[in-house]
Amino acid sequence: MPTHDLVVIGTGPGGYVCAIRAAQLGLNVAVVEKNATYGGTCLNIGCIPSKALLHASELFDEAGHGFKAFGIEVPAPVLNLAQMMKHKQETVDANVQGVAFLFKKNKITAYRGRGKILGAGKVEVTADDGSKQTVDTKSIVIATGSDVAQLPGVTIDEKIVVSSTGALELAVVPKKLVVIGAGVIGLELGSVWRRLGAEVTVVEFLDRILPGMDGEVAKQAQRLFTRQGMEFKLATKVTGVTTSTTGAVVSIEPVAGGETQTIAADIVLVSTGRRPYTDGLGLEEAGVGTERGRVVIDDHFATNVPGIYAIGDVVRGPMLAHKGEDEGIAIAEILAGQHGHVNYDTIPAVVYTYPEIASVGKTEEELKAAGVAYKVGKFPFTANGRARANRTTEGFVKFLADATTDRVLGAHILGAGAGEMIHEAVVLMEFGGSSEDLGRTCHAHPTMSEAVREAALAVEGRAIHI
Ligand SMILES: Cc1cc2nc3c(=O)[nH]c(=O)nc-3n(C[C@H](O)[C@H](O)[C@H](O)COP(=O)(O)OP(=O)(O)OC[C@H]3O[C@@H](n4cnc5c(N)ncnc54)[C@H](O)[C@@H]3O)c2cc1C
Repeated sequence: MPTHDLVVIGTGPGGYVCAIRAAQLGLNVAVVEKNATYGGTCLNIGCIPSKALLHASELFDEAGHGFKAFGIEVPAPVLNLAQMMKHKQETVDANVQGVAFLFKKNKITAYRGRGKILGAGKVEVTADDGSKQTVDTKSIVIATGSDVAQLPGVTIDEKIVVSSTGALELAVVPKKLVVIGAGVIGLELGSVWRRLGAEVTVVEFLDRILPGMDGEVAKQAQRLFTRQGMEFKLATKVTGVTTSTTGAVVSIEPVAGGETQTIAADIVLVSTGRRPYTDGLGLEEAGVGTERGRVVIDDHFATNVPGIYAIGDVVRGPMLAHKGEDEGIAIAEILAGQHGHVNYDTIPAVVYTYPEIASVGKTEEELKAAGVAYKVGKFPFTANGRARANRTTEGFVKFLADATTDRVLGAHILGAGAGEMIHEAVVLMEFGGSSEDLGRTCHAHPTMSEAVREAALAVEGRAIHI
């Protein structure tokens, strides 16, 4: 008899949520975690610490520049970076301890050590001291997540050339920060250090920021970030980084060809993406199929080996915590004999800059490429009363609806609080709703969310306040 019904390898948002849901459904569950704390990338070195620093640095920036217009005269704020980092660490600690508590509450067995799959139903756990034990189980869920992707020719030392992990714990504010990659992580961490006083230059290979997000939204966001003081070098490739004890020199070249230039920096942040992490997991020996590093799964999270499943960053789809969580819940329900399911068309994505950028569903570029006839409804925050009162008038809401049926196919928000407001569109789309459904739904006044309703009304040219 196997000891467990389910062993989950990895306790990031995919793994820990899967374990809890499976335990709720009556399965005998164990987790294997190689790190000292639970919660994976997200809780330890990702979503949570970055948001703690984003919030704190936004307040610092506002105290320095934003209060005067409200009639609040304060002396220039003084940065206590050590305290800001303490706040970040306390936030992380509270979250990872929360997961440990939930494991106990749900009677989940925790094995500390590196998990290796010996075959269907068998996981070997190697503890830090080298001791090994084999755990028997009916099913295995791989939730080993992702790691920083290296940039060829650039060595990350986490001191001068840092990944997101190093950028979350700089001991001093760099005078000059070069960010390689204008994706979500680069823009978020670039924003943190710009607000705290760094001069930030973002170098991006593509001719736009935020690849994959709606082009119009990305363009407007870039304008706002430039106004805030970030410099962008788009369609530019990094050809090398040399370091000394005090800093780095980044060599860049236009993608289209041309002269090489150099930028001096105290710190260089490499944020060019993440790779699925399966090191030492024994996939090859166990016969589990992978494609470009990702574990291959079917629509029900099953790998090619019976009894072995995979979820989260290590499989296809967007590398987002909530995508992994939903997959964790779905596979737990499937293993308990239910019908777990993830709707990949309604997974929101948020960039936690100021203003925030949030989206769900299709972009205009995707609809055009697919030949779908669609209508656009847009509403700017400049025309929203609450935004004026809050001095948060940058940005707009945009709805994309099917031209024939009016079903909402995508929604994109650039604006303060976009990451909260997007869920109106997420719920609407989950229920197959139309722009008219949202347009006819009463919204409290005065709220930023009224702009969401107005954008939905604008699909049929019925917005009131513009
Ligand atoms: C700076 C940064 C900011 C981010 N911000 C956001 C955000 O705001 N919102 C968002 O949705 N996403 C964000 N992400 C992405 C998010 O962190 C990931 O999508 C998410 O953590 C993936 O969850 P996961 O469970 O698949 O894997 P992970 O969180 O990567 O967890 C995998 C776990 O598996 C463990 N593990 C790996 N191999 C083994 C093994 N062989 N044995 C035992 N244990 C093992 C690891 O130690 C780790 O604990 C951010 C990422 C970064 C780096």
